[in-house]
Amino acid sequence: MSKLETLADAFHDELQDIYSAEQQIAKVLPKMIKKANSGKLSQALTAHLEQTKLHVERVASAFEETGKSAKAKKCEAMAGLTKEAEETMAQDADADVADAILIGLAQKVEHYEIATYGTLCTWADQLGYTNAKGLLGQNMDDEEKVDKLLSNLSRHANLAAKA
Ligand code: FE
Ligand code: FE
Repeated sequence: MSKLETLADAFHDELQDIYSAEQQIAKVLPKMIKKANSGKLSQALTAHLEQTKLHVERVASAFEETGKSAKAKKCEAMAGLTKEAEETMAQDADADVADAILIGLAQKVEHYEIATYGTLCTWADQLGYTNAKGLLGQNMDDEEKVDKLLSNLSRHANLAAKA
C-alpha cells in the first residue's frame, strides 16, 4: 500500500471504499427485497436498488478529477454490515417483525453511506473537485431521502410488529 501524503490521496482512497460499498449494496438489496413482506417496503427497496446502480456509475465518474482510473477497494465495513444483515434475515420471524427488522438493517447501510458521502463531499469541495462534489452530493441526497422514507415506513411496520 502506498503512503497517503495529501488530502487528494485520502479522497482517492475513500472513493475506492464507497465504490466497493455501493457494489456490495447492489448485491444485497435483491435479497432484502425478497425478504420484504409489505408491498410499500418492497417497492422502496426496489426503487433504491435502481438508484444504487446509478450511484455506482456516479462514483465511477467521480474518479475523473483524481486523474486515476475507477477502482474498488473492499469496504470491510459494508462487508460486515451485509454479513450481519444476511444472518439476521435468515432468522425465522413473523412477517411484520421481519419487516421492522429489515428497515433497521437498511437504515444502518444508509447511515454508513451518508457518513462516507459527507466526508467525501467536504474533501471534494476543499480539493476543488467540483464535478465529483456534484455527483457525490446527488448520491448523498438520494441516501438521505431513502433514509427518511424508511423512517416513515417503520412507523407502520413497528406498530404492526407489536401485535
Ligand atoms: Fe448508494
Ligand atoms: Fe443507499
